Amino acid sequence: MEGARILFLAGALSTHAFVGYALVRGFTDADPRFGALLGLVPDADFLFPAAWGWPFVHRGLTHAPLFVAALVAGAYAIRRDRDLPLAVGLGVGSHVAVDSLSPMGIPWLFPLEASPSLGLPVHGPAATALLWAGAIGILAKLTTDLPSIR
Ligand SMILES: [Zn+2]
Repeated sequence: MEGARILFLAGALSTHAFVGYALVRGFTDADPRFGALLGLVPDADFLFPAAWGWPFVHRGLTHAPLFVAALVAGAYAIRRDRDLPLAVGLGVGSHVAVDSLSPMGIPWLFPLEASPSLGLPVHGPAATALLWAGAIGILAKLTTDLPSIR
């Protein structure tokens, strides 16, 4: 894997993790580190062997809104409170929402493969800076125990 590709993936993954962290920190009482982990869950599909094929491919099953809904329902079934399902929805859902805008898109109509996409460069420098700024804004506005960033 060439250096540029590694840099691109590191930027995209750290952005998804930070956005998940900020959303879970800002809108739930769950551990925000869990939000960072949840923000990475959809890209676990990079670990699927290529031989498995659809839907176990990058931007397949784990990037479907139906997958997010199933995880939220599962979280609610495990712990019937607000914070865990909301954290799962925000962490995993934010990743899928960001990726949905990218040229590759997501399978909105899973199990169908083809879906429309806006084709925005959401992992480009400008969009990445915007996502980080939004996440920092959430942390600054919605958390009360971080006086150093106010
Ligand atoms: Zn992804």
